[in-house]
Amino acid sequence: MDREAPGEWNQALMELGAAVCTPRKPACPACPLRAHCRAWSLGLAEKLPEGKTRRPPVEVTVAAALIQRGDCLLLVRREQGRLMGRMWEVPQTSLESHGLPDLVREVEERHGLRVVPGALAVRARHAITFRRIRLEGYRAWLRQALPADPDRFRWASPEEVSRLPTSSMTKKLRINDVQTGRTPEYPDVRVHEYAASPEKVAQAAKEVLGRLPGWTLVGAGQGAAGHAIQAVHETGVFLLKEDITIQIRREGARTRVSVRSRSQVGPWDLGQNARNIREFLAALDALVS
Ligand code: SF4
Repeated sequence: MDREAPGEWNQALMELGAAVCTPRKPACPACPLRAHCRAWSLGLAEKLPEGKTRRPPVEVTVAAALIQRGDCLLLVRREQGRLMGRMWEVPQTSLESHGLPDLVREVEERHGLRVVPGALAVRARHAITFRRIRLEGYRAWLRQALPADPDRFRWASPEEVSRLPTSSMTKKLRINDVQTGRTPEYPDVRVHEYAASPEKVAQAAKEVLGRLPGWTLVGAGQGAAGHAIQAVHETGVFLLKEDITIQIRREGARTRVSVRSRSQVGPWDLGQNARNIREFLAALDALVS
């Protein structure tokens, strides 16, 4: 494995498995690894892998400590020899934990860091082999100075999180702009459709903005593409603001509502933009459906 770019090596292997060395019909004649492949040399390529009985899925909760310094997030390195060894991630509990109740103890045991967890900031789903993981990211603070060990600890900017070999959950945290149907990390944040007319839905959307705490209607207009509504959401505790754009238009017999939420400041949204969209659309559903 290339020690400088293990992520690219990993990506290349995944692409090989998806496009060339597929389980049912491996494309051996076109395979760049054929000269080194034992299965090919033994004539077993078509017979492998042997069928296995699938393990039933197991639900797991993993809690993560989201510790910020300015625009940077604290990353720790996984131990060598573990699954995804040497990869960077936010400090988090193991797959054997119960989530938040184990967070303080496990982060201290695994990384020697004493942390104080705060409010829940991010929720996400992830799957590794037979485990269905519910990820919960909590804002957190260090109770000590960070040990000077750049091989194990680092404050990472969003660009570094993109560049470093990091886990999927850690990558997800750098998002600060979410759109219905366009942000693959949040497949549940989808365009909503209604039978009511665009005018009725637009009126209901303004009512929702007037009712929800922390939301302010900034402007509204109508053009050939439909209704467009601008709003601002302010996060209570940290007074962070997000710009919200709501598009309402007719498509066939249905009225479609798409929403975008974009952070005004800071490179991390810690799940806030997705929460904004869910909150708004749930309130609109209750009023229109
Ligand atoms: S040569 Fe080996 S690695 Fe390549 S596609 Fe065939 S079985 Fe897979």
